[in-house]
Amino acid sequence: MKIQTVTIIISVYNEEDALPFFWSKLQKAIQDTAFESEIIFVNDGSSDNSKEIINTISNNNSNVKGIHFSRNYGHEAAMLAGIDNANGDAIICLDADGQHPAEKITEMVSAAENGSQIVNMIRLSRADGGFYKKITSKLFYKILNKISGLHFHENASDFFLITKSVANVLRHEFRERARFLRGIIQIVGFKVATIEFHAPKREQGESKYSLFKLFKFSGNAVVAFSKAPLHLGLILGCVFSILSLFIAIYSFMMWLIDDVPPGYTTLV
Ligand code: UDP
Ligand code: MG
Repeated sequence: MKIQTVTIIISVYNEEDALPFFWSKLQKAIQDTAFESEIIFVNDGSSDNSKEIINTISNNNSNVKGIHFSRNYGHEAAMLAGIDNANGDAIICLDADGQHPAEKITEMVSAAENGSQIVNMIRLSRADGGFYKKITSKLFYKILNKISGLHFHENASDFFLITKSVANVLRHEFRERARFLRGIIQIVGFKVATIEFHAPKREQGESKYSLFKLFKFSGNAVVAFSKAPLHLGLILGCVFSILSLFIAIYSFMMWLIDDVPPGYTTLV
């Protein structure tokens, strides 16, 4: 399939330091390509100058547009807003901090032209993140794979390409509010290719994923792909109902045969 236009979606949350570097790298990566590029910056409610930087870039480049959220809705919402507004034959999502090398874009598009509808970018190494982040991420995927019965790649990232047909499925069939897009991409079917990459250090700014956001993100993934939390609630509910029944019967018997303080049985 010939890819005529590629939409590149960049989620941006307080990236004023990284954006100028990112933009010059992206421009270099897509100049002289055979495809046209449509670039969408999704500003996820930044409180710094990201909005002004995006507006300047889009005013000077007719193929660039900005979507500005009214507040911080999260990375997942930003990616979906980009996908909803993309017109390309292929769509690529990547981060604004340079950790998803834009140089890989042509290779990703070639894979799509060779028939893959999804190109998953697998991180071979990450230069930052530290020991703690690596361990918790490993543990999270171990648990998720175990209780979901599916297999999610632990080094998958929010760096991927999808073709128009996959985007249409995401637009219409995966509208849940708490999304785990990198997981959805892996279970949605279609012909998938994987390309490996090394994630460099974040050059500017710092990670925008707080511990709380990561925790929420992992929780959403578990709830989305596994019935285990629901089953756990059901089992706990049954156990406590049976226990309560026994205590009720016991208390009633005590009331009948023993001298319990007045009001105690009613209270139980
Ligand atoms: N991001 C976003 N909304 C958020 C948090 C992050 O749009 O609430 C963007 C952020 O600007 C970056 C990408 O998502 O382009 C990945 O975030 P980050 O680099 O902070 O995550 P990490 O690489 O540390 O996992
Ligand atoms: Mg990053």
